[in-house]
Amino acid sequence: MMSSDKYEEFVSEDHAYSVRLPVSILEKMHKDCSAALPKETGGILVGCYSEDLNWATITNAYGPSRQSTRYRSSFVRFGFDYLPTLNRLWNKGRYYIGEWHFHPFSSAAPSSIDVNTMVNLSSDKKLHCPEPVLIVVGGANGTWDISVSVFSCGARIVLHK
Ligand SMILES: [Zn+2]
Repeated sequence: MMSSDKYEEFVSEDHAYSVRLPVSILEKMHKDCSAALPKETGGILVGCYSEDLNWATITNAYGPSRQSTRYRSSFVRFGFDYLPTLNRLWNKGRYYIGEWHFHPFSSAAPSSIDVNTMVNLSSDKKLHCPEPVLIVVGGANGTWDISVSVFSCGARIVLHK
């Protein structure tokens, strides 16, 4: 059904939300972060949902778009030139699932700006994604940290491994 990749699974306490992150994509994110050090980097997450919508599988983690500058946080900072890619993927049953970015040398916990940005994204009708996922990679080479959250009805839901 999905790729046969090994993945890490992150689940909310009430098991209502689950995100599967293939190890190969996590490794790519770490590689992008290493290359960006000491700067931030990040981009959008694309994936698909299970038939019962209980879990999402990440199938792509894009790096910064060409137009993006070194931003503070989010889709807006990474540039809307992702939209053609998203439209193409939409036809293949892959959707915008959310965002990821890097906190160099620090905790992967989302900042208050991150949280506010994601809450705003969840109400952006253009993205058709009322419950976006945020993955933050923290740390640096060898000491990576990660946080996975879902934003629903204006609140952050923390997912745990
Ligand atoms: Zn952040």
